[in-house]
Amino acid sequence: AKHSPSHVVIYDRRMSEKVEREVAIAGQLQQALKDGTGLELYVQGQFNITTRELSGGEVLLRWHDPLMGRISPADFIPIAEERGLIGALDKFVLQQSCQAIQQWQQQGRGLSQRLSVNVSMASFEQADFGIWLEQLLDRFDINGHQLELEITESGLMHNPKGALKTASLLKQLGISLAIDDFGTGYSSLAYLKQFNATKVKVDQAFIMGITDQERSQAIVRATIGMVRELGMQVLAEGVETEQDAAWLVAAGCQFAQGYLFARPMRINEFADSWLPS
Ligand code: C2E
Ligand code: CA
Ligand code: CA
Ligand code: CA
Repeated sequence: AKHSPSHVVIYDRRMSEKVEREVAIAGQLQQALKDGTGLELYVQGQFNITTRELSGGEVLLRWHDPLMGRISPADFIPIAEERGLIGALDKFVLQQSCQAIQQWQQQGRGLSQRLSVNVSMASFEQADFGIWLEQLLDRFDINGHQLELEITESGLMHNPKGALKTASLLKQLGISLAIDDFGTGYSSLAYLKQFNATKVKVDQAFIMGITDQERSQAIVRATIGMVRELGMQVLAEGVETEQDAAWLVAAGCQFAQGYLFARPMRINEFADSWLPS
């Protein structure tokens, strides 16, 4: 036969190894979310690209599993989304973020910028997500002006009505909205039209090495123009070099994030570096 059965077996085994790993990760992650062990919040500063003053901080989750070791969010977030854990994960990170904000306030060194938290569209589009957020702010006695949500989309939106409902409640609460990874995946022009976002984050794929990529330059220049014309702020992700930063300043970009300015660090380190003491 042309198709040797052994190939089929090997293919199957590889597939099942991949699925087995995903199932294992999902199981461990579910456990971690229950008791919070092994999960840690990191924060990466965001900056005014011209003055280089801190403009905010993005919360990034880190996970160290006792059995499997360090696992990158780039690996476990998609698994959490596929296996129904993203709702619990997003709520966990939001809760921990609000707790940190409350703690800083009580210590008399409140953050005057916003903490920006990643939220999957699967969470955002739940019709009761806005109410949950309102109760969260209440519980920790913090103001919506201290929070921003970055929405990312890794699949098609299932419940646009729910998403719009959440967006309008956010506005009432003073929580701002950023469109993440703009220009890739499902983060598209339709989002700009639908959501009253305050900020657009241009994906790092367009930014890295921009000074020698003419096509990226054209795309980013046009994006900056469009976003600003819509009255929104624009932030460039993945800014690693002074050349990239200089190009972005010249192109009218207002905010930046990337290794050039700050690496993601433990949330306490972030507080020690940037909060008034
Ligand atoms: P993202 O939201 O686009 O986050 C930016 C990613 O780029 C982070 O990776 C960050 O560490 C990395 N990064 C920042 N500056 C630079 C740079 O100058 N150069 C390079 N090469 N990389 C840079 P990270 O922390 O591994 O997160 C990966 C993705 O996982 C995030 O992409 C986000 O989509 C997701 N994620 C992380 N934490 C959470 C979370 O708490 N909740 C949700 N729903 N998603 C999260
Ligand atoms: Ca983000
Ligand atoms: Ca991003
Ligand atoms: Ca990303």
